[in-house]
Amino acid sequence: MSSHPSLRHLYNFSGWVIHEMQVAQDLVVIKLHRDKRHRIYCPHCIRKAGLNRKVMQTAYDLPVGPANLVIVQYEALQGYCSHCKSHFTIHPQEIDRYAHATTRLMHYVCRLCRFMPADKIPVFLPISASTARRWDKRILAKHLPNPDLDNLRILLIDEKSIGAHHHYMTVVINGETGEVLHLAEGKKKTSLESFFHQLTQKQIKKIKAVGIDRAGAYKAVIEEYAPKAQIVFDKFHIVSNLNAAVDEVRRSEWRNAAKEDKKFIKGQRFNLLRNAQNLRDEQCDSLARLFEANEVLSQAYLLKDAFSTLWTYVRPKWASKFLDNWIDWAKETGLKSLVRFAKGVDRDRNEILAWIKHRITSAKLESFNATINRIVKRACGYRDLDYLYLKIRQEAAPPVLQL
Ligand SMILES: [Zn+2]
Repeated sequence: MSSHPSLRHLYNFSGWVIHEMQVAQDLVVIKLHRDKRHRIYCPHCIRKAGLNRKVMQTAYDLPVGPANLVIVQYEALQGYCSHCKSHFTIHPQEIDRYAHATTRLMHYVCRLCRFMPADKIPVFLPISASTARRWDKRILAKHLPNPDLDNLRILLIDEKSIGAHHHYMTVVINGETGEVLHLAEGKKKTSLESFFHQLTQKQIKKIKAVGIDRAGAYKAVIEEYAPKAQIVFDKFHIVSNLNAAVDEVRRSEWRNAAKEDKKFIKGQRFNLLRNAQNLRDEQCDSLARLFEANEVLSQAYLLKDAFSTLWTYVRPKWASKFLDNWIDWAKETGLKSLVRFAKGVDRDRNEILAWIKHRITSAKLESFNATINRIVKRACGYRDLDYLYLKIRQEAAPPVLQL
């Protein structure tokens, strides 16, 4: 080992001076002593305080040259303040005393974790993957800006199932900017309530509309915490409910069809559920043959097709009239699944018509889903929801943050 003084300026720790440096091929040890010119001040009341003893501590630092392992050894100062009657320990401000690492190393790990799985960090640095995750989380929690809760007008709330074990979480997104505002375990009332608890009354009053799925516990929470906000049921959920009802008709027709009629129904599932304008000519022909042979499916299909007109209305009042007619028509068919759907539409009329006014789309949720799948795969799994939330927020943060 040899001393190499020109490296010294890389190791400025305020209040400490370099006492000794040991440089080897794969290891650098920097030994620090207290700079005696600095007075000791109580960190609690910032008054002069006495020093009781020094305790040797070590911290990891950034690799230098071929040396992957760089260790800073320093004397942590333990003292007692007679003014505020408290014990204290002073570490260099450049060192995170809990992580036993310099903050610059932790920031570096955090930057790496933005682009590679934490599992790969041990390839580059002498720390474990779990340490990398812990540091990454700590730096993100400290430096990521908080979500902007002051100008929320449109919210999107959804439940998301992650992992193989149907682990659910509730996510709240700013419907206009796509910013992720909240992530919580489960899909129950409490999962959403914890979001509203963060908001002031002034912030809540600005919320005009909240887009949610029809099922689930969110509606009651919104009605309780943001009674002025209009609840909007997600258009795509409604459409998929209708498709499910039509598909139920198809299945029951298949079961009841005579053997020679089954050939008309076979392979028609996607033709029936697809939008008419997306069908190829031969698919249209095959549907036409089916409708000639099967009156019930023909009716179901016409109903389904007509429903899409609802979304083209501009005025909720006209849309409501259209809905009345459609519901009557659906009931007249007597088809069980469609009657059930129509009754549900009637019950949820306000929340469905609210879409006409607010035109909330779930596009922002879709892009969130893409982001979260990527992050879960790459970064951290889904066990630590707080960390996952930070990683999602980091994704949205501008790269100039250099986190
Ligand atoms: Zn004090």
